Amino acid sequence: MRYISTRGQAPALNFEDVLLAGLASDGGLYVPENLPRFTQEEIASWAGLPYHELAFKVMRPFVTGSIPDADFKKILEDTYGVFAHNAVAPLRQLNGNEWVLELFHGPTLAFKDFALQLLGRLLDYVLAKRNERVVIMGATSGDTGSAAIEGCKACENVDIFIMHPHNRVSEVQRRQMTTILGDNIHNIAIEGNFDDCQEMVKASFADQGFLKGTRLVAVNSINWARIMAQIVYYFHAALQLGGPARSIAFSVPTGNFGDIFAGYLARNMGLPISQLIVATNRNDILHRFMSGNQYVKDTLHPTLSPSMDIMVSSNFERLLFDLHGRNGAAIAGLMDTFKQGGGFSVEQDRWSEARKLFDSLAVDDEQTCATIAQVYQECGELLDPHTAIGVHAARECRRSLSTPMVVLGTAHPVKFPEAVEKAGIAAVPALPAHLSDLFERPERCTVLANDLKTVQGFVAQHGNRGKPL
Ligand SMILES: *Cc1c(COP(=O)(O)O)cnc(C)c1O
Repeated sequence: MRYISTRGQAPALNFEDVLLAGLASDGGLYVPENLPRFTQEEIASWAGLPYHELAFKVMRPFVTGSIPDADFKKILEDTYGVFAHNAVAPLRQLNGNEWVLELFHGPTLAFKDFALQLLGRLLDYVLAKRNERVVIMGATSGDTGSAAIEGCKACENVDIFIMHPHNRVSEVQRRQMTTILGDNIHNIAIEGNFDDCQEMVKASFADQGFLKGTRLVAVNSINWARIMAQIVYYFHAALQLGGPARSIAFSVPTGNFGDIFAGYLARNMGLPISQLIVATNRNDILHRFMSGNQYVKDTLHPTLSPSMDIMVSSNFERLLFDLHGRNGAAIAGLMDTFKQGGGFSVEQDRWSEARKLFDSLAVDDEQTCATIAQVYQECGELLDPHTAIGVHAARECRRSLSTPMVVLGTAHPVKFPEAVEKAGIAAVPALPAHLSDLFERPERCTVLANDLKTVQGFVAQHGNRGKPL
């Protein structure tokens, strides 16, 4: 499988190189040159497979030529073996034909584990073969950091540096990062805000001299391998609910457009999906595009669903590329317009094309809490605020009551007690068994000034399993 850039000017890469690449050299994102397509018979024959075996069937075409089948199978068995539920991604019924796909049974209790547990193992496998080491630098306001650290903690060939804004992440989120101890794990609390952390990561990618030749790898959702891993659970859910013989609708709590883009790809690979609902919080750039053809930057609004607090959706460029007939020059032009003026619209027929499949809704904090309370009363299920946004949007935007509606359950409610409390629910959710002693575990973290040279100096001093590069 070869991968090409959405802006058409960067060299095509194989899977191994795309795994180690961040942005393409032309500023674009990598996508498969040709998407694999499965027949209905083929998909139907996968019913009943354990999750890791289904994962192998769905992802195999993407890694062909880079990872032999036997090795890939072993990696997938390890990856999904660490999940705390035997079904890996169980479905829970809320209502007649309405379901939540629970994607929060991984080590850090959010769906990002599906991709980052795999990414860490793939990186280590490829690096061992090449006899190379890499450094990962990432910025987090919460979920991504802990999932990336958990995914890389066992990697022999990776040192990971995760920056979070000092005293500005919740205690559960901080402890999920800082209690993972290892020579190759480095938590940095920056005396600044999330954007400061993000800027330092960007600047480090742009000028990597301080790494003395060691390669820097991206773990945010611009990394193709993360999208790839998320395609699998759309097939998994559909197969449980009578697919592919019948169509399924999905509602997806959305920020950077990674998770829902994976659903769009599942559909293009042959899975009958009749509707994809983009559910956003007040940070609604995607809803404004889907409902009114305006992709325009707004200010950031902090909400009760912080993992969806974004101003721009980085993976949206991947959808735009398809909407424009995979014309890289057109995408480069649009992105340039966006950078200069903060917004754009697309031609009417391209927008209509998007609207055939996607619906959208922006859900505010009040509606989020009301949905948590409502669902708790209806069936005793406690939703996290991100998932609640998905449920609310599903109920508002649903096209057909006879089509099963699956809401992606993106996080465990224990991670977001503030929303549960605001919903008026007294029962505070308990930490699952594997995290029950989280508040007693020792932490390790270094507080650094909000200064690029200081941070880069720290990385150079510790980037080789705690020793200098
Ligand atoms: C990251 C995240 C999202 C948003 O997913 P995208 O792929 O960025 O659209 C939603 N919910 C939770 C809990 C998350 O951590």
